[in-house]
Amino acid sequence: TQRIRVGIVGYGNLGRGVEASLALNPDLELVGVFTRRDPATLTPARPETRVFGIDALDGLEDQIDVLILCGGSKDDLPIHGPELAARFSTVDSFDTHARVPEYFEAMNAAASGERVAIISVGWDPGLFSINRLYGEAILPEGDTHTFWGRGLSQGHSDAIRRVPGVAAGVQYTIPSEDAIARVRSGERPALSTRDKHARECFIVLEEGANEDEIRETIVSMPHYFDEYNTTVNVITAEEFAREHSAMPHGGFVIRSGESSPGTAQVIEYQLTLASNPEFTASVLVAYARAAARLGARGQFGAHSVLDIAPALLSPETPEALRARLL
Ligand code: NDP
Repeated sequence: TQRIRVGIVGYGNLGRGVEASLALNPDLELVGVFTRRDPATLTPARPETRVFGIDALDGLEDQIDVLILCGGSKDDLPIHGPELAARFSTVDSFDTHARVPEYFEAMNAAASGERVAIISVGWDPGLFSINRLYGEAILPEGDTHTFWGRGLSQGHSDAIRRVPGVAAGVQYTIPSEDAIARVRSGERPALSTRDKHARECFIVLEEGANEDEIRETIVSMPHYFDEYNTTVNVITAEEFAREHSAMPHGGFVIRSGESSPGTAQVIEYQLTLASNPEFTASVLVAYARAAARLGARGQFGAHSVLDIAPALLSPETPEALRARLL
């Protein structure tokens, strides 16, 4: 059988993660990385990877089965997503939850001719969304709780780095062990935002910065920190570089419900990730396989992870999967 030919668009954390993941999936082959920057300035992690300018995609419509879009959700995907989906089948990790419906419509309109677009692939949105759906469908009487962390939040880290006097900063989201234990027990507690997560910041100060003022600015920042218990740790630049350059993340989706009065049923799905972008990239690669298969069947247009049958993600045949996993 022919290998699925894949292109990577955008060579940031996610793009590099896709490159690493493809090396573990022999039924997929990497045609190349396509970047908006000067390709000569980028060094690929694997020597055999070819890096091209984005314009090199022109004319490759019949030589690439799926493009994995690794641009940012805020500024990149809303623009080049629909442009590329009109010409190539795509998989992306669009994660601006509130704008998913309009992004789906734009991608569906672009792809519906003869391409497939699978949107919002990753872990949240993505695998967590699927697990929320399973929980709700199977236990209609119940509550779903999503806990994130311990993990590095890109958005909150950006927010603290913008505070004047902060030279470097990261923010970790910490789920409350007590809240998780109560949900797991089947107690069905009512939990506030503050009950579920705490926020922990590590910052490096600029020369002469006022530590108390900065601490107060961070913990009272509206939307980002004011609704949480936040701790701010001031550390040295050396410690920052040594301890805070990885991108760990993860979390839990827990559905706690009852199948009849007094009969508690709890479903839990957990991720513990040493690298958020490498894991998200691994999910994108599995869904690239699904996109190629849907295309071969003529099921064009946009799909979300909720619409994709699980067997489409596996390199094995449905027969082999039935024999081995059921
Ligand atoms: P990056 O900021 O690392 O990369 C985004 C884009 O920016 C790249 O595609 C690249 O495009 C450009 N870029 C990267 N580095 C540089 C640089 N040094 N100079 C100039 N441009 C650069 O973002 P991530 O890869 O970490 O994340 C991408 C998106 O993935 C996020 O916006 C988020 O929405 C999503 N995501 C989704 C998850 C989920 O569970 N659904 C989980 C994690 C992330 P180019 O090569 O063309 O310049």
